[in-house]
Amino acid sequence: MKTYRYVIVGGGMAADAAVDGIRERDPHGSIALVSAERFPPYKRPPLSKALWHDYRLERTFLKPSAAELGVDEHLGQAVTALDRAAHTVTLASGAQLRYERLLLATGASPKQLPFGEGVIYYRTMADYLRVRAAAKEGRRAVILGAGFIGCEMAAALRQSGLETAMVFPERHLLERLLPADLAAHVTAYYREKGVELHAEDVPVAVERAGDGFRVRTRAGRELAADLVLAGLGVRPNDGLAHEAGLRVEDGVVVDSRLQTEDPDVFAAGDVARFPLDALGGELVRIEHEDNAKSQGRLAGRNLAGAEEPYTHTPFFYSDLFNLGFEAVGVLDARLSTVADWKDGFRKGVVYYLDDAGHVRGVLLWNVWDAVPKAEAVIREGRPAGGVEALKGRI
Ligand SMILES: Cc1cc2nc3c(=O)[nH]c(=O)nc-3n(C[C@H](O)[C@H](O)[C@H](O)COP(=O)(O)OP(=O)(O)OC[C@H]3O[C@@H](n4cnc5c(N)ncnc54)[C@H](O)[C@@H]3O)c2cc1C
Repeated sequence: MKTYRYVIVGGGMAADAAVDGIRERDPHGSIALVSAERFPPYKRPPLSKALWHDYRLERTFLKPSAAELGVDEHLGQAVTALDRAAHTVTLASGAQLRYERLLLATGASPKQLPFGEGVIYYRTMADYLRVRAAAKEGRRAVILGAGFIGCEMAAALRQSGLETAMVFPERHLLERLLPADLAAHVTAYYREKGVELHAEDVPVAVERAGDGFRVRTRAGRELAADLVLAGLGVRPNDGLAHEAGLRVEDGVVVDSRLQTEDPDVFAAGDVARFPLDALGGELVRIEHEDNAKSQGRLAGRNLAGAEEPYTHTPFFYSDLFNLGFEAVGVLDARLSTVADWKDGFRKGVVYYLDDAGHVRGVLLWNVWDAVPKAEAVIREGRPAGGVEALKGRI
């Protein structure tokens, strides 16, 4: 059995960044990266955005030459067991690797419906290649769910010339995230772009029909489709950690150094539940790129002995046709909001506040290069001068 100084479980952006973090402090320690996917680490956000425009597939791959960094990649192989006492992981093939220090960067997996063979739960490069091959102009796609993935894929497919319909239980797109008036605005914008929207409805069956599918809904609709995609949210891949007896609470719980209660096991990215410094150490789990990259890197440094706390405040972003935004902190439409619009819904800032009047999140709608200012407002907690004084801050 081969022993590595570092074993990274997972092959996403957090895993990739961890390699960089390790190499910043330890140029020669042996590294194994084990990924269930058959592709080496790649950027996930372009799968629903740039790759549908002019971005080349090769550019999504993060380290074309892992071997040069001394990384043994074990691709297309899930880790099926972690034995913390023996310091080993077991791969699906039955092979075992021994580690000195381990990173769990296993990310998250899409939630699935209890029915519907052939539904694509959009997450991976393999999903992109499959949808790309099937997404011919004039074909018809039905998208289930109106969160980020559903909205981004509806825009991507519509812009590629497909007839696109969405089915979702809320009244408006992105309703769980955006204030009601903005969500209504985005919904009207999608209709203008020719996306057929079936709000306040849910699928009850997805059946094969000829070469395609038929989606039946609770409201009695029958929607024909060549392609059915779903974006229904994700669950953290924390099963390995749970079975190994680590603390798991909708994600692997880590401290500010991204270390679990086992000093040799760390977690980073979508799978990690960690104390967010800007919110006074509240435990959160974040499903976004910036967090995966910055946490992955810090976890790598700490695996290599750095012992540094994670104090970064991650941001996230999305592109929907020509709409774009960045956001920092917690965006939850159940919080109260203060909006500062500059030009209708074209450009503005929305502050999300909890019951105690503390700013927990900031949405920067078509407002760029303002992430540090947004972070400063969140760190301030309760805004000096009251909520009305927030207007004009960014
Ligand atoms: C289509 C799409 C678009 C997105 N767009 C944006 C965006 O615009 N902005 C933004 O901020 N975020 C975006 N995200 C979210 C962002 O991509 C994720 O937050 C990020 O990928 C998380 O990285 P990660 O490395 O933690 O996990 P993941 O990317 O989920 O990677 C985990 C990896 O571990 C592997 N794995 C899991 N279990 C095992 C196991 N037992 N053994 C071996 N390997 C395993 C998985 O196969 C996977 O390769 C998007 C996500 C998707 C799917």
